Amino acid sequence: MEINANNTQLKSWIEVNEGSDFPIQNLPFGIISTDKKPKRVASRIGNSVIDLSALSDLGYFGELDTVHLFDQENLNPFIEKGKAFTRAIRNRLSGIFLEGNNELRKKENDLHKVIIPIDRIETHLPVQIGDYTDFYSSIEHATNVGTMFRDPDNALLPNWKYIPVGYHGRASSIINSGVAIHRPKGQQKPTDGAPVFGPCKRLDFELETAFITYPGKELGDHISPDEANHYIFGMVLFNDWSARDIQKWEYVPLGPFLAKNFASSISPWIVTLDALEPFRVSGPTQDPEVFSYLKYQGDKNIDINLEVLIQPENGVATTVSKSNYKHMYWNMDQQLAHHTINGCNIKAGDMYGSGTISGPTPDSYGSMLEISWNATKPVKLSDGSERTFINDGDTVIMRGFAEKNGVRVGFGEVSTKVLPSK
Ligand code: CA
Repeated sequence: MEINANNTQLKSWIEVNEGSDFPIQNLPFGIISTDKKPKRVASRIGNSVIDLSALSDLGYFGELDTVHLFDQENLNPFIEKGKAFTRAIRNRLSGIFLEGNNELRKKENDLHKVIIPIDRIETHLPVQIGDYTDFYSSIEHATNVGTMFRDPDNALLPNWKYIPVGYHGRASSIINSGVAIHRPKGQQKPTDGAPVFGPCKRLDFELETAFITYPGKELGDHISPDEANHYIFGMVLFNDWSARDIQKWEYVPLGPFLAKNFASSISPWIVTLDALEPFRVSGPTQDPEVFSYLKYQGDKNIDINLEVLIQPENGVATTVSKSNYKHMYWNMDQQLAHHTINGCNIKAGDMYGSGTISGPTPDSYGSMLEISWNATKPVKLSDGSERTFINDGDTVIMRGFAEKNGVRVGFGEVSTKVLPSK
């Protein structure tokens, strides 16, 4: 099916600055509020926010039934409607804001209600997340961690190339960009000596993306890789905060727990998978051959440039990593196929982390654990200070965008400040 809104030739009558992540080809979805009105659904072009509840009230969606779909505190009711509907809304938005279309542009009263400058809104967590799963799908990341902590000659565990390894995380502590976190406390075990309790000393970020699903199938059914696209609504940037010292002591034998569940931060605008389709690329060769329920057709990776910056308190931000989503060994369709092959059901608004996205070179690693190579190689920031992990007062910023044929579709950023332990 042709996605009209992706046409690279389209231009909006709304001004879009050079290098913006939000041209008319993006049209992401999020939740905003203003001084005058509570939470509702919005999109954006450039630095202009589009109030979809106002557009709906004014009748701009015509035949598309949007009654009480956009005056909501989250996107779940909208996502519940499925891919054909969300695609139709995005195509309709593309039409309304297309250069040459004056149906809204020339109506001063309507314009005033629909378009809000970005500096007058606040964004909120876009979905009510029922379940959250985190994968471990970057071969570079898994190899680095295995090399550091186990055996450089057998860095990958025997299951890694057979199974898109994952675990069930915590949904309640997923937070919007801009919400500060407190350094977690917990048990740690020094190499020599008894376990101790106190603030985490090795606070780390994990550079990830996450995808959000539409309603799935009934309990007991599975979703094949070829069907998966139909069940994925969109993506966000995802900083999966990790307390490495707590993790090291607690993770045996059941895996991550308090080292991971204190916070994960996401970017506020969900970029639809539709908007990312033009940036598909092929993934790495999978050897050994995967089970047939994980086999897929076509290009399933996506070329998304990713960047991590650390900004010390009152200082300027320094880039500490540049990676790319295209490096992922297991793609989203395979992750969803694996997740459901046992009959596990998925729901609208569920979130699935990619796992840390490391590239092949040290300047593309997706966590401080790897960048500082387990605290043996400190990173110098532009103010002259050094980091092996994240300090109190630091703000970690992640950015991401795809770019091709003169069109740049991006996520903006996820930015989180670290405060001292409570
Ligand atoms: Ca993770």
